[in-house]
Amino acid sequence: HTATEGSNEQPREKPLGGRLLATGFDDKSCLSRYHQSSLRKPSPYKPSRYLVSRLRSYEMLHKRCGPGTNAYKRATERLGHNEVRSSGADECRYVVWTPKFGLGNRILSLVSVFLYALMTDRVMLVDQRSDITDLFCEPFPNTSWLLPLDFPLTDQIDSFDREHSQCYGTMLKSHAINSTTIPSHLYIDIFHDSRDHDKMFFCEKNQAFLGSVPWLVVKSNLYYVPSLWLIPNFQPKLKKLFPETDTVFHHLSQYLFHPTNQVWGMVTRSYNAYLSRADEILGIQVRVFGTPAGYFKHVMDQILACTQGQKLLPELGTPESQVTTNTSETSKVKAVLVTSLHPEYSDSLKNMFWERPSSTGEIIEVYQPSGEQVQQTDTKLHDQKALAEIYLLSLTDKLVTSTRSTFGYVAQGLGGIRPWILYEPRNSKVPNPPCVKAMSMEPCSLKAPLSLCQTETIKVTPFVKYCEDRITGIKLV
Ligand code: GDP
Repeated sequence: HTATEGSNEQPREKPLGGRLLATGFDDKSCLSRYHQSSLRKPSPYKPSRYLVSRLRSYEMLHKRCGPGTNAYKRATERLGHNEVRSSGADECRYVVWTPKFGLGNRILSLVSVFLYALMTDRVMLVDQRSDITDLFCEPFPNTSWLLPLDFPLTDQIDSFDREHSQCYGTMLKSHAINSTTIPSHLYIDIFHDSRDHDKMFFCEKNQAFLGSVPWLVVKSNLYYVPSLWLIPNFQPKLKKLFPETDTVFHHLSQYLFHPTNQVWGMVTRSYNAYLSRADEILGIQVRVFGTPAGYFKHVMDQILACTQGQKLLPELGTPESQVTTNTSETSKVKAVLVTSLHPEYSDSLKNMFWERPSSTGEIIEVYQPSGEQVQQTDTKLHDQKALAEIYLLSLTDKLVTSTRSTFGYVAQGLGGIRPWILYEPRNSKVPNPPCVKAMSMEPCSLKAPLSLCQTETIKVTPFVKYCEDRITGIKLV
């Protein structure tokens, strides 16, 4: 149905997820917080009571320790002073998220940092120097998740890398960590190519030490939630938070992310103009990796082999079949939302269903909101369009995504949709089979930061599996 986009006579809709979300916000400052529920079908997945209560306590913690509080001031004053013992139990501890890679990667690492914060009673603050404030509203009431610009380490954050003396993995490697001196801050490196020493972050023993470090600054391009589940003493609490193990991203992303009014305007305008009247919406996310990227016939053939093979799109009929199926009043309308950097894929689909009738008589309406050609991360409008498209994809009934694309992972997780994943084409050929139905709606942790300490745990954790589209990755099912 049609959504309102900020008119004065807004219906007072319940925020999405009901009790999952924080209350106490001014609705108009962030329309998506309330309007999403009018576009989304109610999620069949309900958050556990424990998750809801942990989120409420997190909000109180964030308010007590967040920017502008005395606790925050005290904590920043301690930066740079290593301590002999750990500080008092009531002192606030923090984990700082920094943006790395494209928007999909950023959203995945942000959710991972937030779950880590929930698990370890830390306060999560986000580096706001990219365009995060143009994309998302504040998730926590009466405080801010933005790391203040005058944070004492701001100038250092950019120089944190594996060579840096505060890099945890590097310190482990050079035996610079001892349990008597607690550094005031550490840099944590969690990338697809992190070293074995960096991956030791995910060992139970190391977590015991890290718990006493007041500030952690994390850089990551991964969804490393599955690796948190492989820390043995994290598992009982995680199971209590998420009795349905494949709902972590779904719940946390719906809780944390509320697109700004500008982005939400794009979502609702597209939805109302092209999608709201359809009987069914199919989303197709086409991400072409490699250079040159662009339009390839084998990719188009693969999309058709998958969508027609899985009966997501009808076959084409003959001109004669048109005569028998031309009953437009009763025909079902299927809207196909295509997102891609390249406009040619939707053009091709559109032409196909214009030139010939569908064999079923269904009316196929193809829509692609943008075709930006090249990735332009950190350009405000480009990122806003990308986010709007991720949200639109998450509002579809059925979804086809591209292998190893974090853009698609975010859409499926937000929407609670188990997509069909298009396999990666090799040698410019259509893979056989062209696609596979995902085991769960959870994102894949593309290159699992598995540490040696986790090799046993993974064997006895049946709900962490290797990904359908990436054998080096793991995901929750
Ligand atoms: P990934 O590289 O597919 O894992 O996804 P990311 O989101 O991390 O990075 C890709 C970036 O390219 C996005 O953030 C967008 O900036 C851009 N991009 C890729 N695909 C699309 C698309 O379908 N629509 C739009 N608007 N932008 C896209």
